[in-house]
Amino acid sequence: MLEKKGIGVTVYEKQEHIGGHCRTLINKDNLVELGTVFCFSQHIKELLIELDVDYTERFTYRNFLDEHFSKVEHLSRENVSALTDELIKLEKILKKYTSSLNTINYGHIHEDLMVPLIDFLRNNELEIICGLLAPHLSSFGFGNICELQAYYAFNIFNMDTIQSLIRGDRLLFVNKGMDEVISKLSQNISDIRYSIEVKNIESTYEKVKVETEYGSELFDKVLITTKLPKDVIKDDLYNQLMKKIDTNPYITCAYEVENRNIVTTYYKANLGQSEKIQFFHTFRQNNKTTLVAYAYGSVSKELVGSITADIENSGIHIKHLITAKQWYIFPHLKAQNLTPNFYKDILERQKVSNICLIGSLVSRPAISNLYASIKQFISQTF
Ligand SMILES: Cc1cc2nc3c(=O)[nH]c(=O)nc-3n(C[C@H](O)[C@H](O)[C@H](O)COP(=O)(O)OP(=O)(O)OC[C@H]3O[C@@H](n4cnc5c(N)ncnc54)[C@H](O)[C@@H]3O)c2cc1C
Repeated sequence: MLEKKGIGVTVYEKQEHIGGHCRTLINKDNLVELGTVFCFSQHIKELLIELDVDYTERFTYRNFLDEHFSKVEHLSRENVSALTDELIKLEKILKKYTSSLNTINYGHIHEDLMVPLIDFLRNNELEIICGLLAPHLSSFGFGNICELQAYYAFNIFNMDTIQSLIRGDRLLFVNKGMDEVISKLSQNISDIRYSIEVKNIESTYEKVKVETEYGSELFDKVLITTKLPKDVIKDDLYNQLMKKIDTNPYITCAYEVENRNIVTTYYKANLGQSEKIQFFHTFRQNNKTTLVAYAYGSVSKELVGSITADIENSGIHIKHLITAKQWYIFPHLKAQNLTPNFYKDILERQKVSNICLIGSLVSRPAISNLYASIKQFISQTF
């Protein structure tokens, strides 16, 4: 977007490849998404069409298993009929928080929303919605709903997204994998520095100095898209805020499994728990089935072993493990660090600073929304 405006851009990337949490593995003509899998909303279509990236929208069928690996319902029949009333009630309640929730970026946080989601829903007698949302939020890496603040939960799952989950709307998948999006985006960037970690960022007179292991350079403006270790940014406000941003350790295990019709499966008894499989989904391509499972925690032989055992206990024959990959997902603030003006202060500061925090540091971390957020930032700032 910046280069299209004629602004020269340098990208510093710590890894030897760009894309971050978007990563596609290739096994001949089989693709395995280790990070971003699908997109929820419309924003991203504009980018995919512009980049000439093919996508498909398809339905996802879901199963739920209990602690004995037996099939259970997501919601009971009685709950499904009572859900309509709760949804009407929730919509009315959330209207009160429109200015806190209906924004592309995080902003002012209404203090009613600074409580764990489970408390917010229970206090408002919305137990069925709690059962509806918990599997999705926990499984997608946003954490346990006993800890996830209502503010984040309703930013991630607003009324539109909740309704689309209930309707079982189709989700958008990129046919050749998210790597295609990354490689097409990177073709437009003329200066990418690979395997070069930024170690120091400091305003000096009208410029910003960026230091790496191998030297330093001056820029007019620096846009930070990712959580940096403490003291990298020599700016008290940003640095103090950066120290408070947390991420969830989350792992992806990809397997080749026996070729059967297996649908997306949630492990209801494990929701939000560390070191336990949360859910898996499968892809069939060219007569092969790939299963990708997710869990909170750090990659270890024990954790991968327990994920493998739980999949097998669900009646699936695993041929082999393709990979086990560690991620740190969902930049957010723990309850003790959340204050009503945390994000508002950052957004205000960057209006007058040549160092800005953008992307998933200040907006909900779903690809579609990230695109909308960054587009808005670029058009307002440059
Ligand atoms: C397993 C998994 C599944 C997901 N599924 C979905 C999904 O289905 N749909 C969806 O919308 N979203 C999904 N997400 C979330 C989505 O992938 C992320 O929100 C998004 O990729 C974040 O993009 P980003 O550019 O903000 O950050 P990142 O992808 O984290 O990129 C940050 C980059 O900064 C680099 N970096 C870090 N520190 C430094 C440094 N000091 N110097 C230089 N470079 C540095 C990193 O190497 C990385 O490349 C998923 C995430 C994960 C992990």
